[in-house]
Amino acid sequence: MAESKRDYYEVLGVPRDADEAALKKAYRVLAKKYHPDTNQGNPEAEAKFKEASEAYAVLSDPEKRRQYDQFGHAAFENGGAGAGGFGGFDFSGADMGDIFGDIFGNLFGGGRSRGRANNGPMRGANLRTGVRITFEEALFGCEKEIELTTRDECPDCHGTGAKPGTQPETCPKCNGKGQVVYTQQSMFGMVRNVQTCPDCGGTGKIIKEKCSSCRGTGYTSSRKRIAVSIPAGIDNGQSVRIRGKGELGTNGGERGDLLVEVTVSNHPIFKRQDTSIYSTVPISFGTAALGGDIRIKTVDGEVVYTVAPGTQTDTRIRLKGKGVPYLRNKDVRGDHYVTLVVKVPERLSKEQKEALQKFRETMGEVPAQETSEEKHKKKGFFK
Ligand SMILES: [Zn+2]
Ligand SMILES: [Zn+2]
Repeated sequence: MAESKRDYYEVLGVPRDADEAALKKAYRVLAKKYHPDTNQGNPEAEAKFKEASEAYAVLSDPEKRRQYDQFGHAAFENGGAGAGGFGGFDFSGADMGDIFGDIFGNLFGGGRSRGRANNGPMRGANLRTGVRITFEEALFGCEKEIELTTRDECPDCHGTGAKPGTQPETCPKCNGKGQVVYTQQSMFGMVRNVQTCPDCGGTGKIIKEKCSSCRGTGYTSSRKRIAVSIPAGIDNGQSVRIRGKGELGTNGGERGDLLVEVTVSNHPIFKRQDTSIYSTVPISFGTAALGGDIRIKTVDGEVVYTVAPGTQTDTRIRLKGKGVPYLRNKDVRGDHYVTLVVKVPERLSKEQKEALQKFRETMGEVPAQETSEEKHKKKGFFK
């Protein structure tokens, strides 16, 4: 038999330096393909399945793999030779069951076991909800109240689900373990298969008489208002965690957390990026050219800013410390960046036009006296 044995790496179709994930992946594909459940009465598939299972069992165990790499199949040929027809390699017992539990999950018909009974105390799941706040509320923090339905332990049965005065009984099928172990005789020996107990659903307990208040569920649902303190500096999409306000735990486990995701409304003037605020402020041509004071809206109210003479359009100025407070320390704040946009006047009075005309003349843009109006008149005259 030893002579005809194929190389384990070849069997799985992986390179000699394949990592654990690659081995598992390769084996999963082969095992599914040749699994006896899907190939009934096909001895060739059965042989392939055995071969792949054996190869995987050896290569997935670091110690066995090391021995195999060093000695080849000979590594497993002494000692319990012949056991189960696998060259001395023992496939019975928990080892193989764990491999299958790990690889197939539910393929073998049962819940997977992680070596821990699932009827011990389990922390409740986290609950998620959302709240919408304004731009300013996000900046400076706020208190919000949210309403949500939560489950609490039933006060009549104290969460057991059994009628008051009675107790849930230990499940006779699993003896309270919540899991049942099937030992199956298969072609490569005994396979241990761990499943969630079908009678008690994994709780380990059977309720004979249900509590009428909660109909045996052990909890009651109610609508509640919960205060949420939203810290200054929070940004769109971030969440506030409220410990112990999530789903009920089971079997005495603590409650999960409540996660409140914040949606921040847009502001008509301000844009935010991290701790910076951005806005655009129009300034007149005159102010841009001559300089002067303008009023700028910030999240702290209006501030007066002195524009320097000769300011170009799209000049960006920084208002230090007028940005968003840092989440970790609200006394430290980002900056507010203002883009100054020079506006060209669209409607001008006669007086303003003349003043601008004079301005052009002094700039040498047009000859003195020859305004466009006069030019127009001239044209008409020559016609
Ligand atoms: Zn109850
Ligand atoms: Zn049970």
